[in-house]
Amino acid sequence: MPQALSLLNEIFGYPAFRGHQAAIIDHVAGGGDALALMPTGGGKSLCYQIPSLLRSGVGVVVSPLIALMHDQVAALTELGIRAAYINSSMSIEDAGAAERTLLAGGYDLIYVAPERLLLPRFLALLERVAQQPGIALFAIDEAHCVSQWGHDFRPEYIKLSLLAERFPGIPRIALTATADPETRAEIVEKLSLENARQFVSSFDRPNIRYRIVDKASARSQLLDFIRDGHLNEAGIVYCLSRKKVEETAEWLVRHGINALPYHAGLDAATRRRNQDRFLREDGIVMTATIAFGMGIDKPDVRFVAHLDLPKSIEGYYQETGRAGRDGEPADAWMAYGLADAVQQRRMIEEGEADIAFKRLAHARLDELLALCESATCRRQRLLAHFAEASPPCGNCDICLEPPETWDGTEAARQALSCVYRSEQRFGVGHVIDVLLGHDNERIRQWGHQKLSTWGIGKDISEKEWRAVFRQLVALGYLDVDVGGFGALKLSPAARPLLKGEQTLTLRRRVEKKTVKESRRAGPAQALDAAGQTLFERLRAWRFDTAKVHGVPAYVIFHDATLAGIAAACPRDIGVLGRIPGIGAKKLEHYGDALLALCQAHAAEFGLVAAVAPAPAPAAAAATPAYPGLNDTAGLTLSLLQEGLSVAEVAARRSLKETTIYAHCCEAIALGLLDPQDVIPLDPEEIEPILAAIREQQETGEIRLKPVFERFAGHYDYGLLRCVAALL
Ligand SMILES: [Zn+2]
Repeated sequence: MPQALSLLNEIFGYPAFRGHQAAIIDHVAGGGDALALMPTGGGKSLCYQIPSLLRSGVGVVVSPLIALMHDQVAALTELGIRAAYINSSMSIEDAGAAERTLLAGGYDLIYVAPERLLLPRFLALLERVAQQPGIALFAIDEAHCVSQWGHDFRPEYIKLSLLAERFPGIPRIALTATADPETRAEIVEKLSLENARQFVSSFDRPNIRYRIVDKASARSQLLDFIRDGHLNEAGIVYCLSRKKVEETAEWLVRHGINALPYHAGLDAATRRRNQDRFLREDGIVMTATIAFGMGIDKPDVRFVAHLDLPKSIEGYYQETGRAGRDGEPADAWMAYGLADAVQQRRMIEEGEADIAFKRLAHARLDELLALCESATCRRQRLLAHFAEASPPCGNCDICLEPPETWDGTEAARQALSCVYRSEQRFGVGHVIDVLLGHDNERIRQWGHQKLSTWGIGKDISEKEWRAVFRQLVALGYLDVDVGGFGALKLSPAARPLLKGEQTLTLRRRVEKKTVKESRRAGPAQALDAAGQTLFERLRAWRFDTAKVHGVPAYVIFHDATLAGIAAACPRDIGVLGRIPGIGAKKLEHYGDALLALCQAHAAEFGLVAAVAPAPAPAAAAATPAYPGLNDTAGLTLSLLQEGLSVAEVAARRSLKETTIYAHCCEAIALGLLDPQDVIPLDPEEIEPILAAIREQQETGEIRLKPVFERFAGHYDYGLLRCVAALL
């Protein structure tokens, strides 16, 4: 379909269709009905936008979310497409004007909310439009909102079947990112799409790296995770309660992370303001309950972190799916512990729902717990939930660092028998105390020092016992009596294990040293130092431009496009135009500004003009020439970038560490080096130093001598200077 492809190239600036896009567009442009199931970030909107342009008349898009409509219309307008929305956020005059333009054939695409579409007056208007200038198609986005069992249920969606009756012959396309077969069947039935062709895409999001860690001190773990590759990047942190959302946001801010809270308890204005800042500014971390997220179509969210367990795999997949919609590397990270499982069980039990619903909720939780305790590829398990078979992925924590397993049969029997002998009335903490042979008041009060299981587990550490109990609960050998203060009880499954009829393999808790990967997860990760500098300059330019236009930054260009420009540093319009993500309209609007930026950058860095986009920006490392740095500092920087530590560089060059740190400070000041990459301290150690430096800062100037003395000379001045650069 050469016409669709040339629209994609020229208007949207992308070289090729992905997945089922081309087939869907072909089918709908030819007048067929379709049901498209695609994961978030799979490029859903092109599937109705391009057919709307190919067919005569206007494409009518039904969307449940006003914020999403606004962003899509802004993005289309940037591309030179005539698009508008009609919704309740507009004045009567503006809505009236939009309706007149619609009748006059002034739009290629129009976005409406379902409740507006269903108004008799609006349907009558659409019937006139269908006569003249014509309706190209109806697109029903977020079609899973028809499902009464889903948590996004919108009653108006069910009535959308009337489109089939009132507008026969106009193609309809329903789209969703919710995959399970029941929902699919409901969409077909309720939207009268029995004759629609179904396009089911793979639900794999290969660019997302899944990681589930044992919860120890969740916030510090989160901070480490953010600092290790996600500083100044956009992310979402999900917490269960409003209180925890607030506390976590405050805590992150205190530790230098640009975090904002979002939950249903905040007033509407604050929520809107925070959401707006998240969408429009670079590098905001939104700390939120699951009230936040639906309708967030920000492409460059680099991570989604869970501090609490979601309710189901479906929920987990939907929430983590908000990361990396631009297809660039992103992380899904979760800290999980036994208390999370207990808390979720309690919430289900204490809920108002009937027994059948509770049973379903427990089953969903079990499936999620099995994912958390998995010793095999996480992605395989996730995709299996969507009935999709796949090989081990190579991009999850299990594939990257396979967990050790051990024969836990004996430990499990000890644990189960200790639960039994203490009459199934105690929580995990006490049972572990008994196993370890602790002698405390509570033990004596119950006479548990006389139990045969007292002290039989001394050769296993307390942490390891916690991991054993967590797995026994997750695997269904122990139940947690949520009404009885978390007392552990044996489940029927425990019997064969206790009787020695069954063996059990457990995962070993891995004491992980924080591996300093110091990677940047986003699309800029492959750039050299000069490229990184240009990338940051382009981001600054984009921020200003977006502000002038009053749109989110990514509407101007995605990060991936900026990274493409930074890698190629094009000096002529032809090369610039071939970079993915730059269509004709954007080239016309922004080409000159971008070329001017690149030319200035190239002159400053002494770059030779590239004929085509440079593939791998590696050549510069061989001859370290960093503008603003003298040769010796430049050499230090190039060695650091090879992965040497400050101490190693000092040894290699027979220089003092202080000298090397001085080089680092110069490079940091020029934006060529991230202080995180050279400070060899754990966050816990950095914190008190930062606090001491902040105290100095409050006196007006940063004097490092008092800080140096505070820590009795333990930290080199150069190192302190680098720490100060974190502020
Ligand atoms: Zn994997």
